[in-house]
Amino acid sequence: MIKIGILDLQGDVSEHLEMTKKTTRKMNLESEVSTVKTSAEVAKCQGIIISGGESTVIGRLIQENGIDQVIKENKIPVMGTCAGMVILGQETDYDQPLLGLIPMKVKRNGFGRQKASFEAELELKITENHYPGVFIRAPYALTVSKEAVPLGKIHDKIIAVAYKNHIATAFHPELTHDTKIHEYFIKEVLNCVE
Ligand code: GLN
Repeated sequence: MIKIGILDLQGDVSEHLEMTKKTTRKMNLESEVSTVKTSAEVAKCQGIIISGGESTVIGRLIQENGIDQVIKENKIPVMGTCAGMVILGQETDYDQPLLGLIPMKVKRNGFGRQKASFEAELELKITENHYPGVFIRAPYALTVSKEAVPLGKIHDKIIAVAYKNHIATAFHPELTHDTKIHEYFIKEVLNCVE
């Protein structure tokens, strides 16, 4: 039985909750998927998902609630989407609290005003077919250290990165019907518990 927590501090969590439930059903996994707010709740999870929202607010609340310590001490795999990608990075172009679990520097709102929101078919290293990318004021990875794996690019910008059991995507896989990214993450979580 694995427990996946959708971090519910700020931002849009309900779509991730539904998508993760859908994915575990599809994988025939005995699992519990729920939203989590406190470090005690996070400590009971084998995987954590950080949704889109405002990365400055989510990062601050993670720190204030001691969630960063629990994630690091328990080596919990984290999937971060959009604002979650920013938080997974080690550095951004702003001064803000980060988890720093993936050795990359992230540029926030990296696609400018005109392209603040857009959709694009993505070629990703971890999916066989094109993946429908939904970008909303999305970040991208400016630099990725050589231990981490860039998974795809758009307009020459890195929009997904994997490192150890963590994955960051600039886009919103929870807003599509394609469970491939969630499946990838849950397999990483399973690798850690086995
Ligand atoms: N631009 C936001 C940030 O950097 C992220 C936007 C989103 O998560 N949709 O916090």
